[in-house]
Amino acid sequence: MEPSFLSELNQIQREAVTYPGNNLLVLAGAGSGKTRVLVYRIAWLLSNNRVNAENILAVTFTNKAAHEMRGRLETMLRCSLGSMWVGTFHGLSHRLLRRHWQEAGLEESFQIIDSEDQLRILRGIHRSLNLDLERWSPKQSQLYINGKKEQGIRSHGIGHSNFMEETWLKIYRAYEEICSRGNLVDFAELLLRSHELLRGNAALRDYYRGHFRHILVDEFQDTNTMQYLWIRELCDDTSNLTAVGDDDQSIYGWRGADSGNMKRLDRDYQNLNVVRLEQNYRSTGNILAAANAVIAHNGSRFGKKLWTERGQGDPLVLYAAFNEIDEAKYLANGVATMAEKGVALSDMAILYRSNAQSRIIEEKLLEWGLSYRIYGGIRFFERTEIKDVLAYLRLAINPHDDASFERVVNLPTRGIGEVALASLRNYGKTHDRSLWQAAKIMVETQQLPGRAAGALGRFLSLMDEIAAQVSLLDLATLITYVINFVGLRDHYAKPQYAEYKQSRLENLDELVTAAKQAMGSMVEAHGSQGLQTFLSQVSLESGERLEGSGESCVNLMTLHAAKGLEFRSVFLCGMEDGLFPHVMSMRERDDLEEERRLCYVGMTRAMQWLHLSYAESRQIRGVSSFCKPSRFLREIPGELLRSETLVSKVQIATKFEEDLGGNANECNGLVLGQRVFHGAFGEGTIVGFEGQGEYLLVKIKFRDYGNKLLSPKYANLKLY
Ligand code: ATP
Ligand code: MG
Repeated sequence: MEPSFLSELNQIQREAVTYPGNNLLVLAGAGSGKTRVLVYRIAWLLSNNRVNAENILAVTFTNKAAHEMRGRLETMLRCSLGSMWVGTFHGLSHRLLRRHWQEAGLEESFQIIDSEDQLRILRGIHRSLNLDLERWSPKQSQLYINGKKEQGIRSHGIGHSNFMEETWLKIYRAYEEICSRGNLVDFAELLLRSHELLRGNAALRDYYRGHFRHILVDEFQDTNTMQYLWIRELCDDTSNLTAVGDDDQSIYGWRGADSGNMKRLDRDYQNLNVVRLEQNYRSTGNILAAANAVIAHNGSRFGKKLWTERGQGDPLVLYAAFNEIDEAKYLANGVATMAEKGVALSDMAILYRSNAQSRIIEEKLLEWGLSYRIYGGIRFFERTEIKDVLAYLRLAINPHDDASFERVVNLPTRGIGEVALASLRNYGKTHDRSLWQAAKIMVETQQLPGRAAGALGRFLSLMDEIAAQVSLLDLATLITYVINFVGLRDHYAKPQYAEYKQSRLENLDELVTAAKQAMGSMVEAHGSQGLQTFLSQVSLESGERLEGSGESCVNLMTLHAAKGLEFRSVFLCGMEDGLFPHVMSMRERDDLEEERRLCYVGMTRAMQWLHLSYAESRQIRGVSSFCKPSRFLREIPGELLRSETLVSKVQIATKFEEDLGGNANECNGLVLGQRVFHGAFGEGTIVGFEGQGEYLLVKIKFRDYGNKLLSPKYANLKLY
């Protein structure tokens, strides 16, 4: 009997879901139901016992998407799917490595390090190699190393030809040594190592090839070379691969993603059936037409037609803000107005190009009393205080973790200075020892000055004490114990942290809450196993937001984080040349096209309403400058837009000049149309001049107080 859920699909989607052949690529535009096809295909495979849950492997782009996919399927099929392999590439690789740590050449207690830890290690290497940090930035070595790993290249596989490459190589080698000694695995390593595990172990590979009868991958356009090879290892021509993707939404080229992998599929997999979906179910006609018009400016596309039955809907709204503060007010006002119309806050999203844009928006939302959550931006587990606690925990179960050692050895301050640390690093390097081992030996053999040795000795005992508690306490109690025992609360309560004190202390509390929540779904919440599970989970999820309480909140996120999501109402802000498209991406055609795809992703998140905004001037790093509306705005046909622009300030200026009968447009260095700020009246624009010299009066139109005549001599105007 046909499962009833098939009736929730259109004809082409149904054919894809029930496709009986091996390999399938669904290539289709935004909102056409690609993710839906993937989920329903799994449901179809599981129904009538075509395949067992443990024989399915599904790859999603984020951990959140993986949780949602599993939840969705469990509701559809009314059964638990705990044994199914659903996750991100990183999560799935991690699962493989935990199972086969020995074959993979790791120790059982291996730790995952995130990019910040990685950078810390690299900084140490640069220092110990005496590299000029201006010329050789650790960030660059990070890019180099991750880039190589993503192409499957180890340091010993690189033949070097010039001085530059030789230095990078030296750093790469030193980094590999530290990771292997500390039993540390970075994100790129998770994939590379699990790939090597499968490639180098035919028995294991054949087992998994037989085991995973179906492999399904969402957002395929954003896979990189290593991810492609990883799939290829698990999935030869005889396996069953379902990939879904949209070349127009490939937005991670800067991180090595290659939408060309879709073409590669066609070459590598015989009988690949390519299905195109053309009906969009998400957005109104106007939103779709605008997004299609923008993306049409890109060359080299597979080319897709998208249509909708949803009707035209409202026009898109365009707001030209006076500056970024005005824009933030507009956003808060827009959200509040929508909420009054009955749209839930959680059905709205504010999207921006760069993380830094969120601060002022957050401020205004708070002022307006609107709850919000930052998705992918706050990175709860990446906050300083949280990482400090995690470093203590990591070090407690793996004392050879140098990155964690460096982080906490002198936090809170215990009198262990840079000189003592440099000796430890040096000793570790020359004797091939971890910092922990170096510290033990150097303290015991009295190779350090008395004060530093005493402080270091106390630190080592403190860590031994924490390590002893790991096996005795449950996870949440252990975390509370560490925070108190180490004295982190007092540390953050110090005057120099006053500005962040409250939020830091709240975050520490929140970490205990997070641990309690995590314990709910753990098989073993006590001892090193519970801690291990928690730390791995945290590393994999850093970069995604910890789910807040059930309260309805507006979603704030970068355009990159918005991929795959949808909201009834979307505010896409900061649409200025230089900000979006980003200044770094405006010169090269490929980069600009990637920005345009990002714009397409942003616009197509909207179901019913899309608001676009830009600021005519914006402060960046404390300096205010004039902005040009984004070229992407100009690519949207005018008839699809309804402008909410206040009358342009320069137009106002000209009009007042006419009213005054004057013709001066510059006086004593002040310019007509210039934006100013006055302590009492706020923001305004110069609209005219009266008098001259010492008696000069400036006519200013203030946003909130109307026109005023002021003497620049006394008014203390600040120029924007
Ligand atoms: P994106 O490219 O943004 O990832 P997508 O192609 O994965 O989008 P989905 O998220 O699967 O698209 O679907 C978009 C919306 O359309 C969802 O709300 C989905 O439930 C709905 N949808 C898809 N197909 C149908 C259908 N046949 N009938 C009703 N709604 C559908
Ligand atoms: Mg999708």
